[in-house]
Amino acid sequence: MLGRTHAATGWCAGLALAPLLGAHTLPQAVVVATVTAGSALLPDLDHGSSRASRFVGPLTGLLSALAQGASRGLYQLTKGPRDEPVSGEHRHATHTLAFAALLGWWINWATGSMGTWAVGAVLAVAALLAVDALGDWVLAAAAFVALLWLANGNPEHELAAVAGWIGWAVAAGCLVHCLGDALTLSGCPFLWPIPIAGETWYEIRPPRLLRFRTGGPVEQFLVLPACTVAGVLLLPGVWPMLLDLTDH
Ligand SMILES: [Zn+2]
Repeated sequence: MLGRTHAATGWCAGLALAPLLGAHTLPQAVVVATVTAGSALLPDLDHGSSRASRFVGPLTGLLSALAQGASRGLYQLTKGPRDEPVSGEHRHATHTLAFAALLGWWINWATGSMGTWAVGAVLAVAALLAVDALGDWVLAAAAFVALLWLANGNPEHELAAVAGWIGWAVAAGCLVHCLGDALTLSGCPFLWPIPIAGETWYEIRPPRLLRFRTGGPVEQFLVLPACTVAGVLLLPGVWPMLLDLTDH
């Protein structure tokens, strides 16, 4: 899928996930959704020309080269007898449940042990990635939350609360990316290293009829607009408000 669609599905997944993480208010839900939207771009660091890889020029370019090299090595080391003869760079190591879980665990550990400045740093990176993919309205939403936290007089307390769940949101963003790619023609081997039909990198995908081409008309004119509508309807308070309006 395209970066914009990944970020949009990440935003919707974040809004659905927010109540489970104890984020019930509109500002809290916006923070969760921003983190999942930004994180939903990370698995494509294994592609040199993805949004995440081009994000900060040479810096993310280097991260991308590392991700590609690690993915290639892991694929050669762990491929099964029936896995395809491919390089194993794109849509491999970073497109797995294991990567999502490991990155989420690491973020939880790092933000828990380094304090609130680390939470702020992760939030800032996720927000900038989300702005890059979805547009300036994400920046306006993030600025609104930051101003609210400052006005309440205790931003440290808010950041400490975020530290409790930020790793989960990052992992969810990465997982949503894998599920999105699984719906495209090539599928996604996100259950690695579970062996399926002689492959440890078995591409999970629904029947052909339900899959679409990356960047094709289904993604552009159906998936992305549907995510845009859901991304508004899932905001806390919007759906009850609409029900209320239609009642009268
Ligand atoms: Zn991908």
